[in-house]
Amino acid sequence: MSGLNLAQQEAVNYMHGPCLVLAGAGSGKTRVITHKIGRLIQSGVEARRILAITFTNKAAAEMRERAKSLIGRDAKEVVICTFHALGVRLLRQDGAPLGLKPQFSILDTDDVTSILKDAGGTTDAATARQWQWGISLWKNMGLNAAQALAQAKDENERVTAMVMQRYEERLTAYQSVDFDDLIGMPLKLLVQHEDVRAKWQQLLGHVLVDEYQDTNATQYEMLKLLVGDKGRFTAVGDDDQSIYGWRGATLDNLKRLPQDWPQLKVVKLEQNYRSTSAILRAANNVIQPNPKLFPKTLFSELGEGEPVRVVDCDNEDHEAERVVARMQSIRANGMAKDWKDFAVLYRANHQARVFEQALRKAQIPYKVSGGQSFFDRAEIRDLCAWLRLWVNEDDDPAFLRAVTTPKRGIGHQTLGTLGEFAGKYKLSLFGALFSSSLGSVLNARAVGSLQEFGRFVNDLQYRARHTSGAEDARAFLTEWLKDIGYEKHLYDGEESEKLAASRWTNVMDFCDWMAQRCGGTIDDTAGVQVASEKKNLLEVAQTIALLSTLTEREQDQNVVTLSTLHASKGLEWPHVMLVGCVEGLLPFKLEDEDKPSEGMLQRLQEERRLMYVGITRAQRSLAVSWTKRRKKGRETIAAQPSRFIAEMALNQATVKEDPREKLKALRAEFAKKSADAQAAAAAAAK
Ligand code: ATP
Ligand code: MG
Repeated sequence: MSGLNLAQQEAVNYMHGPCLVLAGAGSGKTRVITHKIGRLIQSGVEARRILAITFTNKAAAEMRERAKSLIGRDAKEVVICTFHALGVRLLRQDGAPLGLKPQFSILDTDDVTSILKDAGGTTDAATARQWQWGISLWKNMGLNAAQALAQAKDENERVTAMVMQRYEERLTAYQSVDFDDLIGMPLKLLVQHEDVRAKWQQLLGHVLVDEYQDTNATQYEMLKLLVGDKGRFTAVGDDDQSIYGWRGATLDNLKRLPQDWPQLKVVKLEQNYRSTSAILRAANNVIQPNPKLFPKTLFSELGEGEPVRVVDCDNEDHEAERVVARMQSIRANGMAKDWKDFAVLYRANHQARVFEQALRKAQIPYKVSGGQSFFDRAEIRDLCAWLRLWVNEDDDPAFLRAVTTPKRGIGHQTLGTLGEFAGKYKLSLFGALFSSSLGSVLNARAVGSLQEFGRFVNDLQYRARHTSGAEDARAFLTEWLKDIGYEKHLYDGEESEKLAASRWTNVMDFCDWMAQRCGGTIDDTAGVQVASEKKNLLEVAQTIALLSTLTEREQDQNVVTLSTLHASKGLEWPHVMLVGCVEGLLPFKLEDEDKPSEGMLQRLQEERRLMYVGITRAQRSLAVSWTKRRKKGRETIAAQPSRFIAEMALNQATVKEDPREKLKALRAEFAKKSADAQAAAAAAAK
């Protein structure tokens, strides 16, 4: 109980019924969850019967770390994962009644786009993505294709619903599910199959949910079914930080809790342990205009601290330059030691580029969080397609990628014919390879090379199943890459040798990483637990499909973080720069603002919450910057400071950093300090 205030202790100690911790940013909600895991174990609940649900895989990994240092080895058994990873677990174990084999595939967005193109008979990716968006929203609302069609409001929605129908049929044929299915299908399973529901309710001793305000209706239903009548769960959240409304998250889930659980215990936390009073005041001021679902007051005992700064800039390049200068001066002042103490937060991904360039120029290490992750790289996705095929040969998208990467003399025409043939006989592409009548549509040579590919895959499957331990796995993977000629494929396809070499290094890294998992030494960060015994390659490949699409592999490096506001939720940094605070970006453009509507007001409120999330990431210092001009597509347009800057109600006397003069002074100061430091280092070296 050390390190918890009284209200936190109350939440941690209440273990026998439903509990809601409702509190503002930085008040220790996540801390309540980690400590409660420990308390539950201490009180006799077996670790494996505790489920903690986080919003991202990264948050899950972090929580596992914290739990480990708090409780020790038992923490390993606790299931800590996202709703999606939980869905995978449920479906792998109990998906049979829905017609799913345990080795089903999980499609990534690219796969989904290409299946939708096919299902809707279009080659236009933008159209397909629009369908994807619509289908996803429907799925999140718990509607199937028929229900979507029944409620379609216009021609556009009717078309989307019909495409959805064909899309669903294809997914069934491919033994595949998309991200939304990872929530929708487990829910269906729990609703329709009492035995499965009973099993999980019995298994789970307590369920804890972080970032509860960003759950959607389906996730809430799932939670309800998992905990059953006893309602042993703890949800923690902050209605002021709900920023995923656009993805179907709903604050109704917060309102429903007290209605659905009359015995609900509500705990409020009021002390913020993260930020100084100056930062917290700015945050409270910004969120103040929003309607209050639950009144809250937040205070900090960390002192007034540095005033929040507003940085006026001419344009984006100037802004990037100034932000970098600010970081350098904070370091030079000794207010920060490490680069990892800094974060640059922005509204939209495309804003990162200028900051990346400025940081590179200044030779400051950084990472783009939520940007292109290791697993999004083309070479890794190539390999993952092969792995998926080992695991589930009926996975058509994986089949198509593997059979053409590297090229093996099987052309698009042959594959097209194979596809038609498979469609006609309702077979997967792989299933069609060995059909006796394939010879009636393809010549003997084509059939021969297709079947040879099929046998090759089967052989790999067989051998992967019988290969375990790190050494053997490494040997196997090396041989496989040689067999398919992957290294040559990279060098042939890449215009620069350097690029090819870096891709090949990624491939080697990936194989090494897989091999280690076969040795049983690496934890599976997706929450699908790996025991510490050796695993065979096929088992490892099974979890990769999920990992390849769901997790970012990120080490805790000493680098500056560049992140979108959305991806920054739940995290904290000593020094935060909130950039691009201009009208049209933050708040995002509200086209219909002259004629205020309910929808527009709600969007503005969500933008304000996003600003609140950004401000409350900062521990010791916060700067918000804006530019007088900004790029919009190819044009440069005049820009206005975000209304949120005014709403922060900062003390005008102290907030402005003098533009050029201050920068010059900072530079001189920095140059002097680093020269001094170098001199000192040189002296020490002597
Ligand atoms: P957010 O709303 O941003 O997710 P949160 O409510 O989950 O924030 P935490 O991340 O749990 O807040 O805690 C914020 C910071 O305060 C962390 O650094 C945490 O270690 C610290 N903290 C929380 N509770 C206490 C406490 N009782 N004593 C000291 N420090 C605390
Ligand atoms: Mg938190």
